[in-house]
Amino acid sequence: MSIIDGRAIARKYQEVLRRDVAHLADREIVPAIAPILIGEDSAARVYYRAKARLAKSLGIRYAGVELPGEAREEELLDVISRLNADPQIDGIFVELPLPSHISRERIAYAVSAEKDVDGINPVSMGQMLVESASAANYRQLNAQRRVLLPATPQAVMELLLESGVDLVGANAVVIGRSLSVGRPLGLLLLTEGVTVTICHSKTLSIETITRRADIVCVAVGHPRFITADMVKEGAVVIDIGINVTPEGIVGDVDYEEVAPRASLITPIPGGVGPMTTTMIMANVVKCASNRE
Ligand code: NAP
Repeated sequence: MSIIDGRAIARKYQEVLRRDVAHLADREIVPAIAPILIGEDSAARVYYRAKARLAKSLGIRYAGVELPGEAREEELLDVISRLNADPQIDGIFVELPLPSHISRERIAYAVSAEKDVDGINPVSMGQMLVESASAANYRQLNAQRRVLLPATPQAVMELLLESGVDLVGANAVVIGRSLSVGRPLGLLLLTEGVTVTICHSKTLSIETITRRADIVCVAVGHPRFITADMVKEGAVVIDIGINVTPEGIVGDVDYEEVAPRASLITPIPGGVGPMTTTMIMANVVKCASNRE
């Protein structure tokens, strides 16, 4: 079994981003990200802080906005519309999970497509879907100037490719069908020539599906959801879940149990998380380089 070291792979990508930021400085552009945190959810705050640290280390300006948990949806939409109109802001990112009175779909529509570093605006989603049909593979799709892919699926694809996983013709299972993780990850894997099954809370007998998979990607948000008996010997296991528990942050995979059966596995922390934050910054740099 080998561990996919998300931190080490992310550092390599960050070196490239530092150089890209330096090139933008020649055009007098300082890329800027505005993450928005609503309320006090501990996981959302972890992501918010991680962005602040990474942006600073890359030379990206950080213009975070914090709103109280009881802020109305209209207040959030006002903040987004101000940031949409600000020419010095390149990327807007609304931290999840949102308080229950705020609609994720309305927020997805509100963030301008040019600044949608989370890749969830219908325009970004539509571009991804349409362009993926003609792209030869995931990297060719992501290389397109105007295509902004959701960061977590990007992170998973880059980790798989960097780890040398044979993707073409492989069988993958994605568990979770959310807008920003499971659904787009299924599409990116498909673009790469993977045969994909997407499972969710209504799927019957998930374990019979996961046991056949060469690659298992999990994003359900339930601690230790994937156990050893659900994974075939030698599978590649990508744990996307981040669950804040009294024992600390744990993933959706029972790591101790599953790791000995896997050929490659991502740890928590230090797996998908650091790469996701890095891919958000890559999207910010892409948006900044698209400035007129
Ligand atoms: P989400 O919107 O809550 O979606 C969860 C998905 O899991 C849903 O599609 C749901 O199915 C499915 N699910 C829930 N219970 C299930 C069960 N018992 N069996 C099968 N499927 C089940 O969550 P998300 O935004 O995708 O995030 C998922 C996890 O990834 C969370 O822990 C989150 O913190 C983490 N995350 C990590 C990163 C990172 O950078 N590592 C980034 C984003 C998210 P239904 O659709 O049928 O309800």
